[in-house]
This record gives sequence, structure tokens and C-alpha cells, in this order.
Amino acid sequence: MKRIGVLTSGGDAPGMNAAIRAVVRAGVYHDLQVFGIYRGYQGLIDGDIAELGARSVGGIINRGGTILRSARCKAFFEKEGRAQAAKALAQHGIEGLVVIGGDGSYRGALDLHKEHGIACTGLPGTIDNDIGGTDFTIGYDTALNIALEAIDRIRDTAESHDRIFFVEVMGRHSGYLAMMSGIAGGAEEILVPETPTSIESIVEHLRINREKGKQSSIIVVAEGDDAGNAIQVAKQVDAMANIPNSRVVVIGHLQRGGTPTAFDRVLASRLGVRAVEALMEGATARMIGINANNVVLRPLDEAWKCRTQFDPGLTRIAHILAT
Ligand code: ADP
Repeated sequence: MKRIGVLTSGGDAPGMNAAIRAVVRAGVYHDLQVFGIYRGYQGLIDGDIAELGARSVGGIINRGGTILRSARCKAFFEKEGRAQAAKALAQHGIEGLVVIGGDGSYRGALDLHKEHGIACTGLPGTIDNDIGGTDFTIGYDTALNIALEAIDRIRDTAESHDRIFFVEVMGRHSGYLAMMSGIAGGAEEILVPETPTSIESIVEHLRINREKGKQSSIIVVAEGDDAGNAIQVAKQVDAMANIPNSRVVVIGHLQRGGTPTAFDRVLASRLGVRAVEALMEGATARMIGINANNVVLRPLDEAWKCRTQFDPGLTRIAHILAT
């Protein structure tokens, strides 16, 4: 293998730049030519491709977002779109591709491999930490710490004013960020899509807490909770418990941007180097993950077939500690 490509696809995540840097520099170290593909699969189809050298990725390890930009690409769902992408790769002599993204991006990579024989390795880049085959995804730790900082700040005001705050964190299908930021932030309630939410039991819990002298509470709500988003949950709880003056804070996209944590930078660096070396060893459709602190290679489809979920025991811990 002489030429490889790297792209970022789907939702951006802090640490993607550190992963790009690792792929480019590992490629250069091993005497490969490395091509950056801009705007994900859309840029691949459009031939928006440029060679990157070690210096092209200088000063980006500390930057959020992705210098290659990211996109969602409808055409790539179709065979024709993928054929165009394969043609663009052939024109540049690119034999291997590193795809940094979530499981949707891997589905595309697997199709590209099956239909056109392009060797692909995937790096898990998403704040949701819901990809199978890896204990952690690149970007999750940064997003978690941003959510936690917000919760800590909100707690100051909640306590000063004896208020209840509903804090919405990202996670349409995954409660990972909500659960972990809730436990770390000492939340009184943590609502996640993985478990059914009972408004009655939240109201009861608040009542008991008030009796014990606890006047303020933080209720962390994953955006995809079955009882609704934070605004909808707040309305239901307020109506049932007759709570005046509760507040809702939606952290939203603040969680996706900003300087990646040391953990995410190191994770991206380790996985990025391995992705290149795996391609050189002949890996064709593998995801690079981290398992028990070892870098591991997994089949790409494990990403969606064996989704990572938080340990249900954490719900119990959150409950025991929220008294
Ligand atoms: P993520 O990679 O973060 O899960 P998406 O699910 O939006 O993000 O996927 C990113 C892109 O990957 C899509 O816009 C599309 O181009 C490609 N993709 C997703 N799913 C498939 C699929 N089943 N087949 C082919 N390409 C796909």
C-alpha cells in the first residue's frame, strides 16, 4: 500500500483533528502518501481531495471540530454514489481509507469495501459513546466534561435560589452522556432513553427530598428520553408537583465544540496510528477500538451490531447517591 485517504463523516466530535493528525503523521512515518478528503463522502464523490504532509496537520491537536470538515451525503446511500467515490479514489491511486465517524459512516465504508474492494478502517468519532467494539469513542470525554462543567455552574444558582433545574444533554438514542455527567455532577435524577421514565416517581422523589430539607435539585435529561426533552419533562413534573419557578437549560451543541481533553487526544493518537498500521498489514474492513486499555481491531459491523451501553448498575448507583 502506497497511498491512503482520510476523511471525517457524520456529526463532528472533539478529537477528530487529533485523529487526522495521527493518521497523517503515521502515514508519513511509514513512507505512505496521505490524502485528505474534504466534507466526508460528499467530498469523496466530488473529488475534493488533497495530499497532506506532516506540516499540514501542525497545530491542530488542540482544536475541536475537523479541519477536513464533515458532511452527511445522501448520494453515498446509493450504489451509483459509491461507484463515483471509488472512481475518485482510483484516480488518486488511493488503496486504503481511514473513516473517522460514527456507525452510519462505517455502514458506508463497509458497502464501499464490499462493492469496490477498497480497504477501510474506521475510527470511532462521536460524543455519544454508543459504538460497539470500543469502550470509548473519540470526543465523548470532552463532551462529558463540558456537560459536567455546565451542571456544576447550574448547581450554584440552583442552590442559591432553592430551584429545580432540568438540564438537557445530548443523546437522541444514547443516555451515556446524561448518565455519566449526572453521576459526576451529583444529579438528583437522571433520565435516559434506555430506561422508562416515570414522572410520578420523579415527583415523589422531589417531595421526599424537600421533606429532608433539600430545596434544590438537578434533573439531567437525555434529549431522547422517552418522557420527552427537558422542556416537555419539566412541564409534566411542574404540573404534577405544583412547582413554580423551575428552570430548563439545554446545553445543546456547546457539547460538540471546543478543545479536546487529554484523554480524547491520547485516544485519537493511539487509534489513528493503529488505523494506518492495520491498513498496511492488510486489514480490509476493521474498526479500531479501545478495550480494557488495549487498542483492538474489530469487524466494522460490530459498531452497530453490538452497541455499547452503560452498565445498568450505574442507574442503581445514581439512585443510591441521590438522597
Ligand atoms: P455517523 O457516522 O455519525 O453515524 P450518519 O449516520 O449521518 O453519521 O452517517 C454519515 C454518512 O455516512 C451519511 O450521510 C451517508 O453518506 C453515510 N451512510 C450512513 N449510513 C449509510 C448506509 N447504510 N449506507 C451507505 N452510506 C451510509
